[in-house]
Amino acid sequence: MKRVVIAGGGVVGISCALALQAEGHSVTVLEPGPVGEGASWASCGCIAVGEIVPLSQPGMLMKVPGWLRDPEAPLSLRPASALGLLPWFARFTANSMPFRMRTIAADLSRLTFAATADFKAQLADIGAPELLVERPVIKLFDDERDKATMGAAFDLARELGCIIDDISGQEAHEMDPAIAADFKYASVLRDWSFVTCPKRLVEKLMQTFLQRGGTVLPLACAGFQRDGAWVSGVQTADGQLLPADEVVIAAGTQSKGLSRQLGIPLRLEGVMGYSTGLQDPGVNLKHTVFYPAGGFGITPYESELAVAGTVEFASLSAAPKWRRADVLVKRAHRVLPGLQDSHRSRRMGRRPFTPDTRPIIGRTGKLANVTLAAGHGQLGLTLGATTGRIIADVIAGRRLGEEISAFSPDRF
Ligand SMILES: Cc1cc2nc3c(=O)[nH]c(=O)nc-3n(C[C@H](O)[C@H](O)[C@H](O)COP(=O)(O)OP(=O)(O)OC[C@H]3O[C@@H](n4cnc5c(N)ncnc54)[C@H](O)[C@@H]3O)c2cc1C
Repeated sequence: MKRVVIAGGGVVGISCALALQAEGHSVTVLEPGPVGEGASWASCGCIAVGEIVPLSQPGMLMKVPGWLRDPEAPLSLRPASALGLLPWFARFTANSMPFRMRTIAADLSRLTFAATADFKAQLADIGAPELLVERPVIKLFDDERDKATMGAAFDLARELGCIIDDISGQEAHEMDPAIAADFKYASVLRDWSFVTCPKRLVEKLMQTFLQRGGTVLPLACAGFQRDGAWVSGVQTADGQLLPADEVVIAAGTQSKGLSRQLGIPLRLEGVMGYSTGLQDPGVNLKHTVFYPAGGFGITPYESELAVAGTVEFASLSAAPKWRRADVLVKRAHRVLPGLQDSHRSRRMGRRPFTPDTRPIIGRTGKLANVTLAAGHGQLGLTLGATTGRIIADVIAGRRLGEEISAFSPDRF
């Protein structure tokens, strides 16, 4: 049995905690924030098995001037953050070459294709199978031009084994009558599903961990005690030193600063997104729907309809621009003509993004007992359970080979 300290109790950190606890370790999680209110709180809630084609698309750099000018575009770059983000962005755009996109998509598929089984096993373990809705996700397109924007990504995803069916907009309306009847095209992402409430998921994972004897301290990890290549303790924000045999850094976007203290230079930025929960939406949507032209998805959570999306490149300290969340709600009326939006609550989340869109999972070769579980970008909810399983394997010294070499923390 090892004493494991995990920095971060978001969906990824708490999934690691449960998996390590199941191996018989004594696990302490440091989580300074309200439970379940990390980035996943603002998410679309999808187990996004086919979300494997990286965000960096060919011609990315050419689009940057447009993003700087239009603060309401689905993708945007904050002018004040642009200079600081340049090194990350240069690496990001270098990954837009077709052969890099293919390699990354294949790497990600090795994780996402295991995600549904891992997630279902996790839900069975915590006794909450009802948190998953196994219903496909629908993407909607106004016309040929709009559909063509997804063409290359869909071709690559299909080539790698994703199940995407093209249907007409009318058929999408028949599948889910809340959707407007006048979309020209739609695609059904058969291998995706969604959770009924990301916050309740994280709370339930945390509750189970505590019931099984785990420790959660409502404190931030502030630093580490080192003896050469060995990290012997974790310092908390209130000055305690927690002895550790193993340390896992799973603090979302804040993993970058924590890792830097240990001499591990991660390339990690927070890509902002917004979600608005509509409490009395006036429509009975059954599927998660995405409207790529508007840059958002709509998910029917158990207690609200969430309109979430936007990819806003901004520094980690940038404040939210709530106008962006409101724009998404306005555009959501195009998708759901019967939508009512008077009762709403807004959230912002920072997706922890690496320039190659691959998460950071595994041990650093620089230290003997530090493991990273961060940088999941738009796949943190999808890959929480899978990451927990892998981190438990890594700490147990079980061989994983191919499955994780592409996700090494030392690749930067
Ligand atoms: C609009 C939007 C839509 C999305 N849609 C999806 C989707 O459909 N499917 C999907 O899979 N993903 C989606 N995501 C991405 C997903 O939400 C993230 O990848 C995921 O939440 C990351 O989980 P995490 O545990 O790494 O980080 P977080 O959830 O951010 O958790 C990190 C935790 O670390 C804690 N922390 C910070 N600093 C410290 C410290 N010093 N010490 C200890 N703890 C610390 C924080 O309080 C926080 O609770 C979406 C995100 C957004 C914003």
